[in-house]
Amino acid sequence: MKSFAYLSAPDVDTAVRAISAEPNAKFLGGGTNLVDLMREDIERPDTVIDITRLPLAEITELPGGGLRVGALVRNSRLAADPLVRARYPMLSQALLNGASAQLRNMATVGGNLLQRTRCLYFYDGSAACNKREPGAGCAAIDGFNRNHAILGTSDDCIATHPSDLCVALAALDAVVEVESVRGTRLIPLTEFHQLPGHTPQVETALAADELITAVELPPVPEAAVSRYRKVRDRASYAFALVSVAAALEVEDGIVTAVRLALGGVAAKPWRAYEAERLLLGAPATEDSFRRAAAAELAPARGRSENTFKIELAQRTIVATLRQLLTEGGAA
Ligand code: SF4
Repeated sequence: MKSFAYLSAPDVDTAVRAISAEPNAKFLGGGTNLVDLMREDIERPDTVIDITRLPLAEITELPGGGLRVGALVRNSRLAADPLVRARYPMLSQALLNGASAQLRNMATVGGNLLQRTRCLYFYDGSAACNKREPGAGCAAIDGFNRNHAILGTSDDCIATHPSDLCVALAALDAVVEVESVRGTRLIPLTEFHQLPGHTPQVETALAADELITAVELPPVPEAAVSRYRKVRDRASYAFALVSVAAALEVEDGIVTAVRLALGGVAAKPWRAYEAERLLLGAPATEDSFRRAAAAELAPARGRSENTFKIELAQRTIVATLRQLLTEGGAA
């Protein structure tokens, strides 16, 4: 591991001033991803700015029924929060499906958004990886790509985003609040993570000197009946092959509200806008669910070992909507 300077920031102002003055610095929250990457010599900051003492660990109610979640709220606490469980069960379920209990006790909401891909070649310094070293090539495209992306890929990178939480946040239209010396900025979660294109090293819309301070959850009445379903190779402590965050509201057999997002299929949490468009106003039937899922996955492209994900994603969408329908999405 490369040597680095350590600074403990007592407040947000100090933290953003420090990173503004030191371009090659990183914020340290839970450290569950950053420290691993520093040990592997993939992240090589000159300065680590410890932000764990900042007052960003509160969950507060917003007027109208939303919630503001501080960036340093631990994943385990957010999953157990009674308001989150009642208003956004998909969010709590997504968190409980992620990592181990020990990691959830350490990992923060802000850090969860900034997790880097678990592509094996990204972590292997001897492998070609455009994300780690732009222009080097992509070993995954003709290599072991069972876990890789099928939507929004490019010939430069087919990595997936590993977060479960972010899939639920995308379905809920969460908004990311960030702070810098220039002031406060709000970024919709669906615009926060970037598709690879020709610049897979650019993963988010966050500037190098910006600090995530909170995530805002808007009021989403239909999310009271919602689910997060994760399909993976092991029963626990594994990243998603495919996951689905879904909310469904049905009146007189017709879909009156629906939210769908997919994980494990792209470099960002994939909001299934096309499926939502087809479902809204359609009969809440297996046939409608299948048609919507097929339309959403129509642009998908499989590689040598992950083509199965195209069918798996469709089946997981249908199964999740079917479950919501029988559990209480119908009025
Ligand atoms: Fe690197 Fe992306 Fe290719 Fe993985 S898929 S080796 S992260 S460029």
